[in-house]
Amino acid sequence: MGPSLTENDRKYVCVNCGKEVKSLFKKYSASVLKLTDCENCHSVADKYVEYDVVIIIIDLVLLQKVAYRHILFNVDFKNFWKLSVIILLMEAYSELMRSSSEQHAKNSDDKPFLNEFEEMADFLFYKLSLSVALKTTCFIVVLYFLTQVYCKMLKKNPIDFITVWKSLTISSFGLFLLLPSLIWDTSIQEVHLCVVSLYTTLSQLLAYTAMCDCPKLWSIVAIFCAYYCKTFCLDFFDMLLLMLKNI
Ligand SMILES: [Zn+2]
Repeated sequence: MGPSLTENDRKYVCVNCGKEVKSLFKKYSASVLKLTDCENCHSVADKYVEYDVVIIIIDLVLLQKVAYRHILFNVDFKNFWKLSVIILLMEAYSELMRSSSEQHAKNSDDKPFLNEFEEMADFLFYKLSLSVALKTTCFIVVLYFLTQVYCKMLKKNPIDFITVWKSLTISSFGLFLLLPSLIWDTSIQEVHLCVVSLYTTLSQLLAYTAMCDCPKLWSIVAIFCAYYCKTFCLDFFDMLLLMLKNI
């Protein structure tokens, strides 16, 4: 019994070892299916086929590489761009809260914080959204470029831009940890931001290692190069805005 034509078009990956498999399961009837074993590691190629989405999300939160491989290669997660827009808006909003609370701390008068926040919110939010979109795009483009170089050097199958974008979006869900502060506290502590940044960076390193099937050292080099370029792009954007303001 060979795989159907549609299965031939699609590439799947064993979540345990990262090697390609032809299919994830064989369907014998409407209610009977058997999970495929990987020819390389002899384990079940993708156990998550039978798992509930909540368990997959828990494994993602627990930074399980197998769960990342499942989401990146074995699932049609077409709406990930909606998730990336939500993450972008949340990041811009948290930046806005941070800059407005810094502004409030500088002003010594007794003006209520929320009034001050509303006054500066509109324009600044658009500016911050644009700046976050730019730095995220820069991060993905640099990471994509480095991934192509790595694949070419090791003669691996090239990884497309969408997969790189997907891996970065999924690994940025740690930013949702900012939600409690944004909703109830209306201010963000530096220590909270540091914890979230650390967790997000760890997720990105893990997602990149799962995507490229590369050594951890290369993941660290690639992520930090992309991060450095993102910071440079942000500085350039701020300088451009300052120049436009002075004209
Ligand atoms: Zn395997």
